[in-house]
Amino acid sequence: MKEFDLIDRFFKHGGHQRKDVIIGIGDDAAITQIPANQYLATTTDTLVSGVHFLPDSDPRAVAYKAVAVNLSDLAAMGAEPAWISLSLSIPDINQDWLASFTEGLYELTQYYSVQLIGGDTVSGPLALTITAQGFVPHDSALRRSGAKPGDWIYVTGTVGDAGAGLDILKGELEAEQAAADFLIKRHQYPSPQVVAGTALRRAASACIDVSDGVLGDLRHILHSSHCGALLHVDKLPLSEALRSSVSPQRAIEYALTAGDDYELLFTVAEDFKSQVETAFSSFNVNATCIGQVTGAVNKVELKLNNSPYRYEGAGGFEHFNAK
Ligand code: ADP
Ligand code: MG
Repeated sequence: MKEFDLIDRFFKHGGHQRKDVIIGIGDDAAITQIPANQYLATTTDTLVSGVHFLPDSDPRAVAYKAVAVNLSDLAAMGAEPAWISLSLSIPDINQDWLASFTEGLYELTQYYSVQLIGGDTVSGPLALTITAQGFVPHDSALRRSGAKPGDWIYVTGTVGDAGAGLDILKGELEAEQAAADFLIKRHQYPSPQVVAGTALRRAASACIDVSDGVLGDLRHILHSSHCGALLHVDKLPLSEALRSSVSPQRAIEYALTAGDDYELLFTVAEDFKSQVETAFSSFNVNATCIGQVTGAVNKVELKLNNSPYRYEGAGGFEHFNAK
């Protein structure tokens, strides 16, 4: 099979087709239409075999996650996803591998009406780069930099699951079957919070997606916003599967420091609190208030049931300096 046949067979006709794609796959570049009064949001992520995923990983899971992490970045900006392009480096043309890969690629694009509009295919070590683009109305992009002292800190869904799932895959954690399945699925097939992201436009003061654990990503918001935070670790939303698999202390550590949950972490001023909570309940999205922004620049104070919480994982200190 030649490169052109491969593109024709696996990429040209698969997936969702959109009206705003004037010219899709098959020419020298894609031509697309951006709606009036909207900005274009663009993000890109590369996954390299042996670095970001194990060489023998299920290709469906690899492709799914590559799309998910890109859509999650768009969601964190409040953007509605529209198009992706794919650069693929593969050592050989294995049609079974490609069939499974494209199945994973089209799952979320189909669900969110996103079209694959182009890419590049080369022979080389296994690696893929996805670029995702979406729309956000003028003046409503969510940024990391708008948090203010007094704002409430929220996180969607549950946190810590993906980190525990990865440890189960690596054989470093054991869990009962149903819980293990759930945690591994959270690691391999994360759900980008697209609806939550668009619902937060103009309502959240800052937003980021959780790819490095709540603490690490909160630090990014605090650094960009020149603020600090008080975080109630007992309020962290933890899944039943995580709680039943590890000690309460360990569950909190997964949530704080293990990555890859792809939930949204955001801050909301007091005046917008009820608006956000109403919007989320109407969209059936869970968000939990886990703390409050403070004026202590780059400091994170952790509390457990209102007492200082000693976090032993990183040298046992209570106050974190957000770089
Ligand atoms: P060129 O040589 O002009 O760069 P290519 O032969 O690389 O064009 O690609 C032909 C068409 O197929 C282009 O529209 C390109 O965007 C698309 N394409 C190539 N590889 C992929 C891929 N992995 N996924 C999606 N589209 C692809
Ligand atoms: Mg060309």
